Amino acid sequence: MQPEHNVYELNFSKIKTYLECPILYKYKYIEGKREGLVPASSLGVSIHRTLEEYHRNSNDPSELLSYYDDCWLGAGYSSAGEQMEWYLKGKKMLETYAQAEYERKTIVDSTEREFIFQEGPWTLRGKIDRTDKWPDGSWEVIDYKTGTDVDLSIPVTESLQLGIYAIGARRAWNMKTGRASYYFTAFNTKQSAPFEAFDEEKILATYIDIGKKIEVGDFEPNHKHCALCPFNNRCEHAKIEGE
Ligand code: SF4
Repeated sequence: MQPEHNVYELNFSKIKTYLECPILYKYKYIEGKREGLVPASSLGVSIHRTLEEYHRNSNDPSELLSYYDDCWLGAGYSSAGEQMEWYLKGKKMLETYAQAEYERKTIVDSTEREFIFQEGPWTLRGKIDRTDKWPDGSWEVIDYKTGTDVDLSIPVTESLQLGIYAIGARRAWNMKTGRASYYFTAFNTKQSAPFEAFDEEKILATYIDIGKKIEVGDFEPNHKHCALCPFNNRCEHAKIEGE
């Protein structure tokens, strides 16, 4: 049975997938095909689960690694050796995260909180990894990035993900002042921008433009993405340069 596809409901994952390749969007969201886990995505799940459980239940940095063991996901690795190698990478990230926790000045208000708001016929949704409150009463919405293949020189105000989070925080949760941040766990660094630094009109227009293309079934392959695509061994449109 195919999943129900609500064309009027948009979130960052859908937009990202459509921008990577419209056919990939069709596979994932209309036909319900699943992308298997690989080491980097599996570690990402383990770290996200760990931080969610830790902030929800403890906030004592010395306990963080025991949450890691409880939340570890062993899927997506080809051997026990490979799994151990990635487990240690994650452990290192969390040791650094725990150190930074001792100096945190904010109060964690929520984890994995969902926002939803309407823009005309479009429903915009998102789930934010962590929401903090600063002593001055301002807010910070945080998305964890666990990968190492990130370009830290791109301004966060260009992010369609943080952009919709900043808009969602204001529209759905009435957070008047605050910032949206990426927390790069592998680099122990955070990049932030105030809510008002994101161009709300442009970001919503981008989401809705893509929504309209999905609505009319505009699904052309983007071959530039084929080499990296998790479906490239089962997609009839795949075209990889040099093959
Ligand atoms: S293999 Fe290429 S054409 Fe097929 S879904 Fe992936 S990116 Fe798109």
